[in-house]
Amino acid sequence: MRKRVKKFVPTYYAKNIYEVDPIFFKAIGVETVLLDLDNTLASYKELTASDRTKEYLKKLIDLGLKVYLVSNNRGKRVREYAESANLKYIAGARKPLRSRTKKFLKNEEIDLKGVMMVGDQILTDVYFANRLGVKILLTDKLVSEDQWTTRFNRIIDRPLRRRLHRKNKLKEWHTYGSRTEES
Ligand SMILES: [Mg+2]
Repeated sequence: MRKRVKKFVPTYYAKNIYEVDPIFFKAIGVETVLLDLDNTLASYKELTASDRTKEYLKKLIDLGLKVYLVSNNRGKRVREYAESANLKYIAGARKPLRSRTKKFLKNEEIDLKGVMMVGDQILTDVYFANRLGVKILLTDKLVSEDQWTTRFNRIIDRPLRRRLHRKNKLKEWHTYGSRTEES
């Protein structure tokens, strides 16, 4: 696969975050989880964290993982959601640009080696994480609806995803630790 395409290949893939056993993160050496918000953790219409989300986040935090929201969405939306989930956050992150997140992680004294991004978009989340040099778990979108701002990205995301799938570049999260996963 050419280098240009490599930037779009995720470390792992999951249908959605909620199917991922929190142990997975620990098992592959993750210490910090950066979560995309819209269509990864919640629908853009969910203004506050649901019980399901809170329960899942609690499992991550109980395992000693640091969890942050990293969203391109605007301040108010992200702030209100993050506060309801009791998470620190970056709003207006400008993914795939790295500077804001890099600065934030530096302030938090987070080592990039132990970081994994979780997101539903190849053009923003996967490309962003690969450029930043952190692990990335790609998910499908959580619900079918998108905010208008992401509709354009989907036009590129869909064929790209099909191609990655065809080329066997979407490594399912639950294959971690298995000997057959090496390719
Ligand atoms: Mg998203």
